[in-house]
Amino acid sequence: MIRRFLKISGLIFICFLVMDMFMAYQMNLRYQNDQAMSVSLKLSALRAHIEKEITQNLLLVYGTANYISVNPTLSQAQFQLYAKGVMARQNLLKNLGAAPDFVMEYIYPLAGNQQMLGVDYRHLEDQWELVKMVQETGDMVVAGPIQLVQGGWGLIGRAPVIVRTASPPAFWGVVSAVMDVDRLFTNVGLDRLEDLEIAIRGTDGTGDRGEVFQGDLSLFDPAEKSVLMTVAFPSGSWQMAARPADGWSVYHPFSWMMHGLMALFFLTVVFFVFRTVKDIAERKFVELALKNEERKMRAMLEASYDAYVMIDDEETILFWSPAAEKIFGWTSEEALGRKIHSLIAPARHHEESASGIERFARTGKGHLLNSVLELEAYRKNGDCFPVEMSMAAFRNEGRYYAVGNIRDITTRKKAEKELERMATTDSLTGLANRGRFMMLAEAEIQRSRRYSRPLSILMVDADRFKNINDTHGHDMGDKALKALGSTLESVLRSTDVAGRIGGEEFVLMLPETALPEAVAVAERLRQTVEQKSIPMSDGPLISFTVSIGVTELTDPSQGIDDLLKRADNALYRAKSSGRNRVAS
Ligand code: GH3
Ligand code: MG
Ligand code: MG
Repeated sequence: MIRRFLKISGLIFICFLVMDMFMAYQMNLRYQNDQAMSVSLKLSALRAHIEKEITQNLLLVYGTANYISVNPTLSQAQFQLYAKGVMARQNLLKNLGAAPDFVMEYIYPLAGNQQMLGVDYRHLEDQWELVKMVQETGDMVVAGPIQLVQGGWGLIGRAPVIVRTASPPAFWGVVSAVMDVDRLFTNVGLDRLEDLEIAIRGTDGTGDRGEVFQGDLSLFDPAEKSVLMTVAFPSGSWQMAARPADGWSVYHPFSWMMHGLMALFFLTVVFFVFRTVKDIAERKFVELALKNEERKMRAMLEASYDAYVMIDDEETILFWSPAAEKIFGWTSEEALGRKIHSLIAPARHHEESASGIERFARTGKGHLLNSVLELEAYRKNGDCFPVEMSMAAFRNEGRYYAVGNIRDITTRKKAEKELERMATTDSLTGLANRGRFMMLAEAEIQRSRRYSRPLSILMVDADRFKNINDTHGHDMGDKALKALGSTLESVLRSTDVAGRIGGEEFVLMLPETALPEAVAVAERLRQTVEQKSIPMSDGPLISFTVSIGVTELTDPSQGIDDLLKRADNALYRAKSSGRNRVAS
């Protein structure tokens, strides 16, 4: 059982492991994508914001260049007024200047920027390259961000001023503006994106070729897998790189939870598997035990001479043992499903059994239950035979059942009858013995009394029988007594009763017979015995006589003993008056 459990658990574990790994992989992949997506979304919003801010401010530079191109001879006061108007709006411009022929002549605000007035770009080595490009390209050129002398970081936008009213159009100079980069980043909320680490490169608008001026250079390392995005503005671009502040997470924050849940799930499944395997093992054990029990039971039932049957509460046969097959002649196949009474009970009991079974179905009780009864039953071939039956009821799932033990008692009954016969019959003559005669006689006397009918008794005694024994032997005497018994039987009517009540003494009871008639019967008997000869084994015949005392029932209060006594008295008289005669 343990081995099977371990096997199943191992398989389940592998399944769970594969499932867990697959789900974790999917979960993490998705999480990684989600992270990239989230970073991209944030970065994209940032990019749009920065682009908008820079473009708006650069447009102001353009605007100023245009203004000057139509007013090439503007006075210092006009410039101040215009620049004041431009800078009054919310923007990033720290100052706005104009340099005709590369010499800074106009600047707003003057305060703090005075040192710039009169500066010739041609003499500013670090700036001249880019300023020159403004003239050469005829377009805006962005420089920086650079560290400003006044502190902080600035992005410089320079635009050419072309006077188009001249013919051909003449290059007037450059307009330049310094944008506050710190404010730019504050405006777009760069410092508020705490969950992102951001770097920007592209000093002088050189995009991905430029230097890093914000954040960590390492973010541009391809190994960092940062999200890259270009910020494009007139005449240049930057490149931004971003990744989550804590780096990219490979694992979903809840992946351990999933592992935990999977483990829990696995343990639950294993628990149920354990229980099921245990249940199955137990059931198998019980089944085996039951099977063994059943085998034992069956062997016992098969070895039994008694029939075992089981019926339900509709007397339908559910079990029919091998002995039942033998006793009743019905095979199990024939008997199962049949009603037991219709199969084996005498027809006269069918009605009674129907009401009995109806009561049994209701109450589980019945007159056949819990007692040993002798009944008659039928075999398949129609033979009626005696059975001894005991039944017991049991209840199962709300219904009553009965189990019966039925024994064929044919042989026993025969033996009992024989015993009874032996106990009540005289073995020598086959006549009733003294006990049986007394019993029958008593019943007959009562009947006679009740109906006032006559009844007579004859007492017969062999004469000088001792002599016969002495002369011819005891066996011969027995033979003579047997012959006397037959003679008595031959004169009997069907209602008469004959018995041997002593060694060579016999009694005859004649119902419906009054004294004279009884005397006549006695006389006839006496003569028959006298005339009869009994052959002996060695040749000669012997004969003997009997004396008979006759009496009639006259006093209704008298019983058999009184009658016998009176008959004996009469017999005595017959003997004493010479034997071979009848006296009454
Ligand atoms: P009586 O009756 O005429 O006076 O003479 P008896 O010889 O018959 O005398 P009694 O009745 O006293 O004796 C009966 C004799 O019957 C005694 C015994 O030898 C004999 N007897 C009794 N029972 C049996 C028996 O079962 N078999 C045989 N062979 N003889 C028996
Ligand atoms: Mg006698
Ligand atoms: Mg005698």
